Amino acid sequence: MSRKPEAVTRRQLIAGAGAATASLGVMALSSCDARTGHPWDHETDIVVVGSGVGAATAALAAHENGDAVLLVEKAPTVGGTSAKSAGVLWIPDNFTLRAKGIEDRKADCLEYMARFAYPERYSARGPNLGLSAGEFDLLEAFYDNAADAVDLLRATGALNLAEWRMFQLDRSATDYLDHVPENKVPAGRALGPVTADGGIGLGVHMMEQLHSALQARGLPVFLEHRVVRLVLDAAGRAVGVEAETAGGAVAFRARKAVIFATGGYVHNPAFVTKYQRNRLYGSCASPMATGDFINIAGAAGARLGNMSGAWRTQIVLEEALVSSELASGVFFPPGDSMLQVNRHGVRAVNEHRNYNDRTEVHGVYDPSAAEYPNQLMFMIYDQRTAEAFGGAYPLPEQSSGSPLVLEGATLDALAARIEARLGEIAAQTGEFSLASSFAANLKTTIDRYNDFARAGIDEDFQRGAAGYDREWYAVFSPLQADAGWPANENPSINMHPFRDAGPYYAIMLAAGALDTNGGPAIDAGAHILDTDDKPIPGLYGAGNCIASPTREAYFGAGHTLAMSLTFGYIAANAAHGEPRDSA
Ligand SMILES: Cc1cc2nc3c(=O)[nH]c(=O)nc-3n(C[C@H](O)[C@H](O)[C@H](O)COP(=O)(O)OP(=O)(O)OC[C@H]3O[C@@H](n4cnc5c(N)ncnc54)[C@H](O)[C@@H]3O)c2cc1C
Repeated sequence: MSRKPEAVTRRQLIAGAGAATASLGVMALSSCDARTGHPWDHETDIVVVGSGVGAATAALAAHENGDAVLLVEKAPTVGGTSAKSAGVLWIPDNFTLRAKGIEDRKADCLEYMARFAYPERYSARGPNLGLSAGEFDLLEAFYDNAADAVDLLRATGALNLAEWRMFQLDRSATDYLDHVPENKVPAGRALGPVTADGGIGLGVHMMEQLHSALQARGLPVFLEHRVVRLVLDAAGRAVGVEAETAGGAVAFRARKAVIFATGGYVHNPAFVTKYQRNRLYGSCASPMATGDFINIAGAAGARLGNMSGAWRTQIVLEEALVSSELASGVFFPPGDSMLQVNRHGVRAVNEHRNYNDRTEVHGVYDPSAAEYPNQLMFMIYDQRTAEAFGGAYPLPEQSSGSPLVLEGATLDALAARIEARLGEIAAQTGEFSLASSFAANLKTTIDRYNDFARAGIDEDFQRGAAGYDREWYAVFSPLQADAGWPANENPSINMHPFRDAGPYYAIMLAAGALDTNGGPAIDAGAHILDTDDKPIPGLYGAGNCIASPTREAYFGAGHTLAMSLTFGYIAANAAHGEPRDSA
């Protein structure tokens, strides 16, 4: 087993880092720790594991605090799922709100967050708004630190951010629960990266900026180093990590602390089966999201939390059957003459709710039939939606003939086509099938929906009632002017009656995720907690690798990146206060 620093190739250590490392207190060595007896290859104050937004923020904040820091990343490239994302950050009381004179008061924002994350216990009058002290502290820590974290990144030139105007349109992103009275600032909390030429950027631009900042500061990123073990001293303090590389094991000593920001477990099929309450068919997360931290921290006595949680999105079943590693999720189902039905041919959800909450409907259990009637949902649409909205994912440019789309000249023919396809893939879906009443119910469902569309009120699921539904519809569901279909002149832009004549189409949708969000639990200082809720000394976590501080609530565009960034920042600041072991 090699323990020589030579095991690190030049490619693995990001260019530019090497010369600066000695002066920054990061040392390459071949020594043995007198107290743990552990041989070390590299030594620093704070070891950060991962290179997504949580890790990069933690490393930059640690550097600002004067701590020596290095990053250890298992992929051959930096950025994780953060680099695949849209790069949006949900930051309360951010600098753009302040510049406009919009007050995002802490008490108001806490009410919104508590109401959204804990609807079954939220009480405006109760102590801690009805939450436990620990739950409340996490929300408070997020509010108290999120704006400071982005202000630090901006002030140090690490990240260029602006108000996120959705996809460069003149619209501030509306929160995912804008219509509850607790949300006093329903738009404007979302920020987005600004590209070099001044445009609104994506996650890849955000991560490019953050990694340029790491490089400019000479902070090493060890690529293709998969951390597999935490090293604890005799007192149970985290003092380093061991990583696997193609050249053998490499050990990193942390004189102060280890911070993990290694993403969720959505691409670990064994963990998905073990921990998810309902079936997940695929994810658009980085393939590196295999939940390595769960067992690493478990071995150190960490308490796990929120293990069945995920940031959810519907996905296209036909794509997931080819590969569970997906390019995208169905973030917003386009179309107005479009609805979703379950195996009974009835609607079960507001089709224009946000992706995270909408996808929860797949897990609804029918106790009489002992089944999940919405395990698969069928997005049904007519020729108007096919042509006027074609090309807006998941609608193909041409629905007819697409391998993702089932087609029928009539609704009966469409039902028969769906049933036949479900028969072909039965082995991959737990033999999910249509109820015998599907075709009859589908017609009734469409008739009822058509009445709602004409009246402009969805009496069953309130589609189009909330600002979110309308605002995001306008962005994600543009009607193509040259498609030859008239604009929707019904009272609600979100709904249009179906045509009486076919053809009709169906896209099969299943539950998927951006990533999971369960793992070792943290406190408000981002310390990893043991089974007695005591911090494991020297061990911190942020992002999707830990138990989500907001359970499954997704407050608005940018929620998950903001959580990872903010708790990465909190972790670096708390780790700064740890005693430096100079033995
Ligand atoms: C298409 C898409 C769009 C999205 N858009 C948004 C958005 O706009 N806003 C938003 O808030 N969220 C968005 N998300 C979700 C968001 O990208 C993730 O929730 C977020 O990036 C997670 O950040 P993280 O820091 O926890 O982990 P990641 O960014 O996934 O980083 C984890 C890193 O740890 C590394 N790693 C894992 N295990 C180890 C190990 N054992 N040793 C060393 N390294 C390891 C991984 O390789 C990876 O680089 C989107 C997701 C997708 C897929």
